[in-house]
Formats: sequence, structure tokens, C-alpha cells
Amino acid sequence: MCSVGGLRVTLHIMTLRLLILGLLIWLIWRWLYRPRRTTTTPTEPSLQNMVRCARCGLHVPERDAVSKAGRFYCSAQHQLEDGQ
Ligand SMILES: [Zn+2]
Repeated sequence: MCSVGGLRVTLHIMTLRLLILGLLIWLIWRWLYRPRRTTTTPTEPSLQNMVRCARCGLHVPERDAVSKAGRFYCSAQHQLEDGQ
């Protein structure tokens, strides 16, 4: 009985060691393959193609602008208002 209990404890320690080892490997792996942070901001306003709202004249990035029939608008609201 005593030896069985001892074996169980040994197995428990082994499992714990494996868990710690796995955690360490995971931490090292994460540290090695961590995403590299770029110092430059992804959305540089000066680098973006700016368009002028046909309704209010506000300059907005082209990807944020609402375009219709070759005209750009700062919002869907201004696009609707211009159509009226
Ligand atoms: Zn507008």
C-alpha cells in the first residue's frame, strides 16, 4: 500500500514537472516568436489619400469616405443630403 502511494506521488510530481516544462517551453516560444511592434503608426494621415466631401468640404481619408458617382462624402448622411 505504501509503495503504491509513493508511486502516485512520484507520478504526480512528474506530471507537475511536465506541466512546468511545457509552460517554460511555451513562454520561450512566445518570447522568440512574439510579434514585432513597428514604431511607425499604421494609419499615417499624411500618407493617406485624402478626399474632399462634396457636401461640407471636409477632408477625409479615401477609405473612410463614402463615394458615389465619382464624388466623395465624409458620411452617408452627406451623401444622401447632396443627392436631394
Ligand atoms: Zn460632409
